[in-house]
Amino acid sequence: MKVLLRNPDRTEDVAGPARVGDVLDRLAVNPETVLVIYGGTLITKDVVVPDDGEIEVRPVISGGAGPASCHACGATAVMEVKRHHAAYCADHFVDHVRSQVREAIDRHGMISYHDRILVAVSGGKDSLALWDVLLDMGYRADGLYLGLGIGSYSDRSGQVVAGFAAARGVTLRTVDLVDEYGYDIPAVTGLRNRSSCGVCGLSKRYVFNRVAKEHGYDVMATGHNLDDEAAQLLGNVLRWQTPFMARQSPVLPATEAPGEGDSGPRGAGIEGIGMARKVKPLYRLGEREMAAYCVIKGLDYIVEECPMVGGNTVLRYKDALNELERHSPGTKAQFLFGFLDRVQSAHFASADPAGETLVACSGCGLPTTRPRRAGVDPVCAFCRTRERVVQSVARRTSAVAGRT
Ligand code: SF4
Ligand SMILES: [Zn+2]
Ligand SMILES: [Zn+2]
Repeated sequence: MKVLLRNPDRTEDVAGPARVGDVLDRLAVNPETVLVIYGGTLITKDVVVPDDGEIEVRPVISGGAGPASCHACGATAVMEVKRHHAAYCADHFVDHVRSQVREAIDRHGMISYHDRILVAVSGGKDSLALWDVLLDMGYRADGLYLGLGIGSYSDRSGQVVAGFAAARGVTLRTVDLVDEYGYDIPAVTGLRNRSSCGVCGLSKRYVFNRVAKEHGYDVMATGHNLDDEAAQLLGNVLRWQTPFMARQSPVLPATEAPGEGDSGPRGAGIEGIGMARKVKPLYRLGEREMAAYCVIKGLDYIVEECPMVGGNTVLRYKDALNELERHSPGTKAQFLFGFLDRVQSAHFASADPAGETLVACSGCGLPTTRPRRAGVDPVCAFCRTRERVVQSVARRTSAVAGRT
């Protein structure tokens, strides 16, 4: 394989296939001082690169006339965070990540050491890093993995999450969409007016809330980072989606269960449960920082993109913000934190986020908005969508059976 070592640039040929960690050993490169990039994405030291592959070994220092020094201890830095005008050695970078999580938790009163926390883990860098940080900080955090049925992508992400849980000896809960709800995310393809990512997001929010409430967790934590939140905000601002802006906060408080008499016919056994509190402890940390955290801590995470990501519009907003950030470091943070400090708290915080009264869904019992017309049973967005997907799968199956 070709190994492109940067700054100063040189190319080495190394026999493959080989683990990245072994390649770095052979080249006498300290894995903690570099990011390794393959096919445009970061990879960890356990990834095997084929013989015809090409990897880039990039020192995680940029700018300046020589290696930057850790601002805390003076050792050679492995990671620079331009918006903080700071560089860190591996240990102090981990401290930096923890201190940003601490700041997020304390600033918004997100969680306490008494809380039972359920972390939504996908196998990606953000959610695994979040789980790792919370455990290291001494919080009581279990994981929840939702199997989306997206072929080998889901198989591999499930393995990564299970591997993390086993290595740390912590509790992992798993739910499989097909087993529990009768559909997977690829089945959404072709459904009118619904994107795969839209249904995927709805399914995740629903299942995470349901599991959190059923198992008595105090709070649900997700790995949304600074890039995710800034991109979401940009999308909301461009369309002036004020109801979504009202809900865009690092903490969403729990809502009470809808009261008796608020619902139509009661449904399937979990009536009376409200919405769990949701927190985003990584909202002050960028995507690149989370990738570097995983590399530095040796956390295996799924680097491949979900094959269905084409329908995800948030990526376009991320690209636009990254372009601005490249020329003006700190733009993303100023955009998001300015909104949270000056706009969200001043104009939206006291508003009812949904702007509507919640009642119990007649299908599943979870909260939903009251129907506009009297006499109509309330059905939540998840139950409506699930029914459409399951019916569309049944139609396709019978059409195929009819042709054979
Ligand atoms: S890219 Fe879309 S379909 Fe894939 S995991 Fe993300 S939201 Fe779900
Ligand atoms: Zn240091
Ligand atoms: Zn429902």
